[in-house]
Amino acid sequence: MVKCPLCKNSNKDTVITKCGHAFCRDCIDSRLSLRERKCPGCSQVFDKSYVKDLWLDSQSSTGHNHALHT
Ligand SMILES: [Zn+2]
Ligand SMILES: [Zn+2]
Repeated sequence: MVKCPLCKNSNKDTVITKCGHAFCRDCIDSRLSLRERKCPGCSQVFDKSYVKDLWLDSQSSTGHNHALHT
């Protein structure tokens, strides 16, 4: 398991897609709410639209969803 580098407490589960750095949801959320919207890793400004669940992509990319083909 990879821990969040900020709080070293929770697992990384959230990624800033703009720069690819990952942290835990708590740390990301607190930055969004504090208007401190810079990536702690590289100081790029981000907002909610760049924040994604870290595990969402790998699940959706392997989906063979032919059910919609009607
Ligand atoms: Zn954290
Ligand atoms: Zn970054």
